[in-house]
Amino acid sequence: MIMQTERYERKPKMCKLNQKTVDDINAKDKRILVRCDFNVPMKDGVITDDNRITAAIPTIKKLINDGGKIILCSHMGKPKGKAVAELSLAPVAIRLSELLEQEVTFISDINVTGKRAKDAAAAMKPGDVILLENTRFRAEEEKNDPNFSKELADLCDIYVNDAFGTAHRAHCSTVGVAEYVEESAIGYLMKKELEYLGGAVEEPERPFVAILGGAKVAEKLGVISTLLEECDTLIIGGGMAYTFIKAQGHEVGKSLLDETKIEYCREMMEKAKKLGKELVLPVDTTVAEDFPSPIDAHIDIEYVDSHNIPRNRMGLDIGPKTMELFADAVKHAKTVLWNGPMGVFENPELSAGTLAVAKALTETDAITIVGGGDSVSAVKSLGYADKMSHVSTGGGASLEFLENRTLPGIEAVQTK
Ligand code: AMP
Repeated sequence: MIMQTERYERKPKMCKLNQKTVDDINAKDKRILVRCDFNVPMKDGVITDDNRITAAIPTIKKLINDGGKIILCSHMGKPKGKAVAELSLAPVAIRLSELLEQEVTFISDINVTGKRAKDAAAAMKPGDVILLENTRFRAEEEKNDPNFSKELADLCDIYVNDAFGTAHRAHCSTVGVAEYVEESAIGYLMKKELEYLGGAVEEPERPFVAILGGAKVAEKLGVISTLLEECDTLIIGGGMAYTFIKAQGHEVGKSLLDETKIEYCREMMEKAKKLGKELVLPVDTTVAEDFPSPIDAHIDIEYVDSHNIPRNRMGLDIGPKTMELFADAVKHAKTVLWNGPMGVFENPELSAGTLAVAKALTETDAITIVGGGDSVSAVKSLGYADKMSHVSTGGGASLEFLENRTLPGIEAVQTK
């Protein structure tokens, strides 16, 4: 039996990283543009969750200690190429100053790389940290336009990408800029994400159980197929399970169904059989008459057999027998990767399945990796985040990385 504290510190076998990291660069006296993911949730100008900011601290501190001049940049929200006051990164600079215990100067420049940014970058001393305005205030950013990429590159000597959550997007600040600098590297956060996610799928300690949930099968087609090849057991819950149940020939009532993906689900079940992998689906389902409106409204629920969902009922969570079934699979695993809720967890009556999976992950000896998005919110709201081996900072990025084993933001960085 492994001691609890040991378990949380466990890592999968490291996957080989070819990219240069911040340990491979000489930052002294150099201007270093660090692309972070400061896309934090805000309410009325107040940051409601600063995890993405704290996650960036190790890289920033390392560069400060090495005597670099650190120019931070990030996007926030979807301003669609215009300056939107509520999406300014100014509050992030304040929080960063507190966390670093040194001033982080915010460059209030809606052009991001305009005169103010240039002047500030030119005047920096070793150890100084500045933060540029939201990169998506520039319409060129999401188009990966070479002009904005060059402007970003002109501010610095070295480019570091530490924004895992945005590494699946080929934008100026995540990909384009790297082409115009002499040296580039990834930061510690990116490195950690790649080591955990890459290690889990490349050389997993077995049995390796992957759990996928969420609403849309279509978005997870690629990752379902890849994970089937790598894991020993693939568990499917959430709204996407009903297309699989339909593909088995059962009725799913009013539950979420993607008619266009029934054939694909059939193929995946065939693939699992051929590869000798277990594909586990819910055996019972929590149903209600309709989708709750508003989403957290009180709702009357019943439990039914997953193969007998009444025509006038909608499956909105896994049922109690399935919770046990899934928890049992996790209990015997050595590596568990989880992405996506088991039901409409935003509603207290429909969160039991997601909570049961989260709890099962805290009670296993396995390396536990939670891959972004809603499953991370669930784990955090329960206070379980520090009981997982790794909680990814990227939802879409972690899925895409698991599927392709690389991301545009990683490819753009120089290799060693
Ligand atoms: P995704 O963005 O695909 O990861 O899906 C996340 C969303 O799936 C959450 O907002 C859940 O409320 C929703 N969801 C999970 N299970 C179901 C279900 N059985 N029916 C409808 N929506 C669901």
